Amino acid sequence: MDSDRSTKLEFAVQMTCDSCVKAVRTALERAPGVQSVKIDLAREEVLVESALTSQEVQALIESTGRQAVLKGMGTDEKDLGVAVAMLGGTGPVQGVVRFLQVTEDRCLVDGTIDGLEPGPHGLHVHELGDLTRDCLSCGEHFNPFGKQHGAPQDSERHVGDLGNVLAGPNGRASFRLEDTQLKVWDIIGRSLVVDSGEDDLGRGGHPLSGLTGNSGERLACGIIARSASLFQNPKQICACDGVTIWEERDRPLAGKGRSTTNTPAANL
Ligand code: ZN
Repeated sequence: MDSDRSTKLEFAVQMTCDSCVKAVRTALERAPGVQSVKIDLAREEVLVESALTSQEVQALIESTGRQAVLKGMGTDEKDLGVAVAMLGGTGPVQGVVRFLQVTEDRCLVDGTIDGLEPGPHGLHVHELGDLTRDCLSCGEHFNPFGKQHGAPQDSERHVGDLGNVLAGPNGRASFRLEDTQLKVWDIIGRSLVVDSGEDDLGRGGHPLSGLTGNSGERLACGIIARSASLFQNPKQICACDGVTIWEERDRPLAGKGRSTTNTPAANL
């Protein structure tokens, strides 16, 4: 189901002066859905509490002409775990999906996927974090309890069944949902896959309905990796490690521009 839960997002933002702070603050505070904004100019950090997707908040900050990089996410509660998957494949589809365990039985899934055909696309956690044959080696839907494929709200479903995300006319699916079965600690090291077609949620009557939802080919996938919650990411805007956070930002999300030694999640 869609989530209206507010979360805190911590961004690094290129700001050099008080007027920059004012511009960023104004852009955020006038947006519906933003509850609070804290800005630290010396640290070039912006902390935003809202029920918007992380991509929406980033776009608001960047509407002021400044670049922003998400450094961490969390809630007011004790942090139960954060993970991220950078989706890529052999085609044009790519995306970033974040998982935040907000309570023992609520996992917030926040994502943006680009390059899709407009319409619904099945989204599933698969059992294996193995991309040696691209998305084909990810295994089946994550299904530790031996159930049939189903809809997110069904009790008879794979744990990995997240239903469909809807891509708009521009090919972007932007979503923020909560799931009751997914646990961040169970899915780190597994993979997330977005499919070419609509997941029939087990109701389609096709031979594949009870197995996969008959949602077509695997378009893009990524390994689910541990990520930073609030204030855990020490990276500053500098070239301390030879690569600035801004250079990392302009690298492709996945694919050839990402070397295997440069674990994406470590940079986020
Ligand atoms: Zn399934």
